[in-house]
Amino acid sequence: MSGLTAPKGTFDTLPPESAGFLAVRDTLTAPLRRAGYGYIETPTFEDTAVFARGVGESTDVVSKEMYTFTDRGGRSLTLRPELTAGLMRSFIEHRLYSGALPVKLWAVGSAFRYERPQAGRYRHFTQVDCEALGVDDPALDAEVVALAVQGFRDLGLRNFELLLTSLGDATCRPQYRELLVAFLADLDLDEDTRRRAEINPLRVLDDKRPEVQAQLADAPLMVDHLSDSTKAHYDAVRQHLTDLGVTWTEAPRLVRGLDYYTKTTFEFVHSGLGAQSAIGGGGRYDGLSAALGGPDLSGIGYAVGVDRTLLAVQAEGLDIAASTGVQAFVVPLGAEAKRFAVRLVGQLREAGVPADTVYGDRGLKGAMKAADRSGASHAVVVGDRDLAEGVAQLRDLRTHEQVAVPLGELFDRVRATVGR
Ligand code: AMP
Repeated sequence: MSGLTAPKGTFDTLPPESAGFLAVRDTLTAPLRRAGYGYIETPTFEDTAVFARGVGESTDVVSKEMYTFTDRGGRSLTLRPELTAGLMRSFIEHRLYSGALPVKLWAVGSAFRYERPQAGRYRHFTQVDCEALGVDDPALDAEVVALAVQGFRDLGLRNFELLLTSLGDATCRPQYRELLVAFLADLDLDEDTRRRAEINPLRVLDDKRPEVQAQLADAPLMVDHLSDSTKAHYDAVRQHLTDLGVTWTEAPRLVRGLDYYTKTTFEFVHSGLGAQSAIGGGGRYDGLSAALGGPDLSGIGYAVGVDRTLLAVQAEGLDIAASTGVQAFVVPLGAEAKRFAVRLVGQLREAGVPADTVYGDRGLKGAMKAADRSGASHAVVVGDRDLAEGVAQLRDLRTHEQVAVPLGELFDRVRATVGR
């Protein structure tokens, strides 16, 4: 034993549970593919500046949680703490904005944050990311939100909630910010919170401590101070969401970790997860492209956590990975039968039937145990004597019924029977 273990805050996803992870990942991305979003793959690490500028220096993610290192060439690189900034860097670098807009993209992959690990909060996790870039249209906000909702619904999730608000934009947020700063100045806050209030006063609204929340009951809220244009935008988003059959809860105190969010802002929470209840979130951002040296274009997107969505699926007791295993299992008894089994498994796999057999010298009992464990609905049990008689036994592993099938019909019979 080497004594080596996965790093603190990380974990391995092993079979059979990993089938659930794959099912969640693929179900969350399917609505994006169906809606014509294009797949984008970007590096897992970027120049540190991509995140410092693209997520915001004042955020916890950038100031406390990044995995930053100097490579052998002296460059400062950072493992991505989220996917949006890297996608935006790529969008700008390849001038995707010079083609037809909006540019619609999706990605899925690892993200890394140096956080205090707890249930649902890890140092390595997986996000599904969706972005629609270059057009500021409330219908697009509604589309993006509805695509996330579709993924959750397709998994069978019921106990999730969409929290929605508008954070205004440059036409009204500065005035609101002044109101809020003046309000916060009169409160009894500790040094740390006061400093936070100076950098980003909106964040104070999201403070979970009861003694802070008690003082915030009468705080001015952005939604009550939206300009005419941002109010019209928000009204239109809500109209489109209603038309799309999406329900939500107004969340006027919702604040997100990224500095550039404007207008529509949302989060998905699940009631079965305890403290780390957010399974996804996103919103519109006006300044991100410009902050990374691109044109002044608006975008809207979200990130959904695959790991936390899997926890939500488990909390609701949903069996999503049931049909992903092997369907037919071939058990050979004897040397001739072994050759036959290997050939039959190859043919079944080629025909698209998930099939497997035993390897190593297992004996009948061990082989039948492996067949049961494989999750297959049927086993083909075949001995050298069966082969001499021109038959194989097709066994239903659930009912234990068994019939002798002539070899000439076996392949078609297996194909027609398994998985039912
Ligand atoms: P954020 O980029 O912080 O808005 O996160 C988007 C989603 O990613 C969250 O709603 C979570 O589902 C997931 N997520 C964020 N941080 C973590 C983490 N440390 N561990 C697991 N999932 C995370």
